[in-house]
Amino acid sequence: MKICVLGAGVVGLTSAWWLAEAGHRVTLVDRHPDPGAEASAANGAQLSYAFVAPFASPAMLRNLPGMLLGGEDAIKVSPDLEMISWGLKFLRACTSGEVERTTAAQLALAALSRAELASLLQTQPLDFGLRTAGKLVLYRKAGDFAEARPLPGAAVEQQVLTPAECLALEPSLRIAPSLLAGGIYTPSEQVGDCGAFCAQLFERLRQHSNVEIRMSTPIKKPIVTRGSLTGIETDAGTLEADRFVLSLGSGSKAFARACGLTLPIYPVKGHSITIPGHALSHSVTDYSRKIVYAPLDGATRVAGFADFKGYDLAIEPARIATLEKAASATFDIAGSGANAPWAGLRPMTPDSRPIIGPSPLSGLYLNTGQGMLGWTLACGSARLLTDLIDGKASSVVAAPFSVTRF
Ligand SMILES: Cc1cc2nc3c(=O)[nH]c(=O)nc-3n(C[C@H](O)[C@H](O)[C@H](O)COP(=O)(O)OP(=O)(O)OC[C@H]3O[C@@H](n4cnc5c(N)ncnc54)[C@H](O)[C@@H]3O)c2cc1C
Repeated sequence: MKICVLGAGVVGLTSAWWLAEAGHRVTLVDRHPDPGAEASAANGAQLSYAFVAPFASPAMLRNLPGMLLGGEDAIKVSPDLEMISWGLKFLRACTSGEVERTTAAQLALAALSRAELASLLQTQPLDFGLRTAGKLVLYRKAGDFAEARPLPGAAVEQQVLTPAECLALEPSLRIAPSLLAGGIYTPSEQVGDCGAFCAQLFERLRQHSNVEIRMSTPIKKPIVTRGSLTGIETDAGTLEADRFVLSLGSGSKAFARACGLTLPIYPVKGHSITIPGHALSHSVTDYSRKIVYAPLDGATRVAGFADFKGYDLAIEPARIATLEKAASATFDIAGSGANAPWAGLRPMTPDSRPIIGPSPLSGLYLNTGQGMLGWTLACGSARLLTDLIDGKASSVVAAPFSVTRF
């Protein structure tokens, strides 16, 4: 089949690769000259296979009034019209039943993603700093720590650590033990530079005999003929295909709307810095401050915050300053000023699960809405999408990711 993949972020690139490998003729389209230029460029770099709990939860519901009044530093909400219907669905997802359903579905997709990335690397040895660094989640509040303790029988090994054990595990930590309640360490968690992965997978796609690349090509609108999506209009003319895959990240909602579909995706802004010349031994999540730290080749990526303020990509100096200050207060890291400040928009669904599979519009498939975990889930999402397009049984249950759940 001729399949046009819309978007060359990590989700579109992996979709294009898995579809091309399955024998489809793929056209990959993006408005930027380079791949992975938006949310996938400089994210937190954590391949977080074991920590997949959704953003919506009973605890989030309890904290919401304080957040709306500006009492939470890591999460800022400036309500707008677009947020209202998204927010109502988000509130409905804040139940313990939904948290359990989402966590189970995401764990399965994350495990598939890890296996698919490993099998990709067997034939395509991409170099993006992938390593099993292990992840230490630090808790500053006793209540959060008590709630987080893993149950016996967790799928992967996890260790509950005292503050002193946290400091012994990660020698670059410079935090006073009295400021910590404890930590949870998961040795199997990985890190890797998503931007470097995108650039290298893109080069492989360029060389793939089944793939045609159309970069610097803004998509203007869909062409719907007799109830089916048959083409797209771009700045460089019309493109036709048998199937289209929507992977436009935070741009997915606008394209879907032009197709007559409503996708509940909201752009949730985050910031990062990349501190050169220093590498942590492990990946670390500061749970209370909602900041993640990942060791890359010769540098440390520091990322965080969830700002609900629309399609605003401006890098905010106050957010960057907070990341620099947090990094130097937590680790033996010098915040120098040449820290590559960056901001990106996570394409978030209300229940934090991506939307993968056919859409109500014939000819249009969806692979979008990976939110906080797009890097972690990209390879598994691409596999699931390809299986669904080919009518094959997949190793994960597809229903939790269907758009029909909304
Ligand atoms: C601060 C931060 C930290 C994060 N940390 C992590 C982490 O540690 N681990 C993890 O798993 N995930 C993390 N994420 C999430 C992850 O980065 C995203 O989920 C992922 O990058 C989304 O990929 P995507 O391909 O869907 O979107 P994008 O990368 O945004 O790609 C969408 C593409 O569509 C193109 N596009 C949009 N509209 C049009 C149009 N009209 N015409 C042509 N092209 C168009 C854009 O140019 C873009 O290239 C983080 C995100 C942020 C912001």
